[in-house]
Amino acid sequence: MVNKDLKFIDIHCHYDDVPIDKLKFEFSFDQISVAAAVSYDSYNKYENIRLEKIDGLYFAYGLYPDVVLNNSLSTCLDQIENINFDHAIAIGEIGIDYKITKNKEKRKEQEIIFQKQLEIAEKKDLPVIIHSRYATKKILDILSTTNHKKIILHWFSGLNEELKIALDRGYYLTNRFAKPTIFNIKDNLDQIFIETDYPISYDNKELKISDIKKSYEVFCKDYNLDLDFVKEKVQSNFLKLFEI
Ligand SMILES: [Zn+2]
Repeated sequence: MVNKDLKFIDIHCHYDDVPIDKLKFEFSFDQISVAAAVSYDSYNKYENIRLEKIDGLYFAYGLYPDVVLNNSLSTCLDQIENINFDHAIAIGEIGIDYKITKNKEKRKEQEIIFQKQLEIAEKKDLPVIIHSRYATKKILDILSTTNHKKIILHWFSGLNEELKIALDRGYYLTNRFAKPTIFNIKDNLDQIFIETDYPISYDNKELKISDIKKSYEVFCKDYNLDLDFVKEKVQSNFLKLFEI
């Protein structure tokens, strides 16, 4: 029997370019989403969407590592000052991305911006949703300097030993359509979330807002797990970490 109290939780997606009417129409009643900002502009868009009070829709605010490409460091730091993090349930999507730039100075700026937002998260005791493409080691090194435990490494792509460090430290990882089988997920369901990273396409197919259901289904099929069991696990992880 399907447990209707259990929601499909999309821990990481981006709706800032979705027209509000479409969002209201497509957002499913049995879904919870944490839509992450990537820039000051997207934060402002979310502040407007927030006023619509869509049931189950929550926000993560922050600056994505690519902001350093088109903004000075001082502009980015000013923008962080101006973000009202009290309107969000998490800080994200923040992090470091070494694919975006090879320039040493820009990489350093990414680090400074990441660290600044991490400090705010720790102070406010908010979970952090982290992007770490080609920079897992650097991210883990920086995280080792904080006591903050509410860490979600979204779309984790690190090495197995990095994965072990992350799990040992109690961090959470997200899985998107269950593609890379990098570890024994069944032993670590207490540290797992599921995401779509909407609107990033999957298998060259455009995603729908409600495709988080598909993401859960693929996950369950790949790991031979019961859907309600996984929904229950993810929901309990969510309630452990987030204050909603
Ligand atoms: Zn994302």
